[in-house]
Amino acid sequence: MREKYLPTIGLEIHIELKTRSKMFCSCKNDSQEKEPNINICPVCLGHPGTLPVINKEAVRKVIKTGIALNCKIAPWSFFERKNYFYPDLPKGYQISQYQKPLCENGFLIIFGKKIRIRRIHLEEDTARSIHLKEENASLVDFNRAGVPLMELVTEPDITSPKEAEDFAKELKLILRYLEVSEADMEKGQMRVEANISLGKGKKLGKKVEIKNLNSFKAVRKALEYEIERQKKILKKGGEIVQETRGWDDKKEITFSQRWIEEAKDYRYFPEPDLPPLKISRFQ
Ligand code: ADP
Ligand code: ZN
Ligand code: MG
Repeated sequence: MREKYLPTIGLEIHIELKTRSKMFCSCKNDSQEKEPNINICPVCLGHPGTLPVINKEAVRKVIKTGIALNCKIAPWSFFERKNYFYPDLPKGYQISQYQKPLCENGFLIIFGKKIRIRRIHLEEDTARSIHLKEENASLVDFNRAGVPLMELVTEPDITSPKEAEDFAKELKLILRYLEVSEADMEKGQMRVEANISLGKGKKLGKKVEIKNLNSFKAVRKALEYEIERQKKILKKGGEIVQETRGWDDKKEITFSQRWIEEAKDYRYFPEPDLPPLKISRFQ
């Protein structure tokens, strides 16, 4: 009998934290503000000579989430610069955490099955680009730049599109209960990226990362589509290209976007403008 191809799925989830102010300045944290470029200041616009200050409430909310998800909480941590160029990134780098996430090695149980959580770290959101087709122009709205963003990464323990959807739904409930985030996917407050590969037996296949998933349904549908697409290629003896693919919600297909960058491409280094964080137990 021929062995079947089994899907392996890991999720990377970005969550906008519900705090009064942004991650490193005192601007209002309101990513839903309709009037562009009003919640901005020299810090979140990345003007030279400005200095960031850590938002304690954001750190607290990440730790709260980590405790709820059975993670080990780091006794100390620090921020790092993730360097890349993009019009929505005014500083030319994003302040993030790489070597020492605030939370590690947790888990969430979904219908009796343990899905391990590799890490949860804290970073800042980017601005929003708006592309106007008719005018052939792009605009940037910086209201979202510097909003506190938490990134949660699971181990590749998920084995079906439905399980990925259930994980995301359960996580949303927890985040809302903890008052960490509204976690509304349609509003971009919770953004799921799904990594998926097909393999036979214990051997994992090459993974594809799917972006632009704006609803729970999109998470499930995109994974279902991708399983079929990869299966067809593998059955013909072809190879899966390791890449990032977008999800087209209208056509219900994934499409190739770009090669996956590796950590070394970002030249991470410790953020020199911020002190290390010491996490005390009693605060
Ligand atoms: P990268 O270094 O390419 O970012 P990681 O090992 O950091 O890859 O994993 C990123 C995400 O992809 C995690 O959620 C992880 O669980 C998932 N993942 C890793 N390997 C696979 C695989 N073979 N198939 C599906 N998902 C995977
Ligand atoms: Zn600001
Ligand atoms: Mg990664």
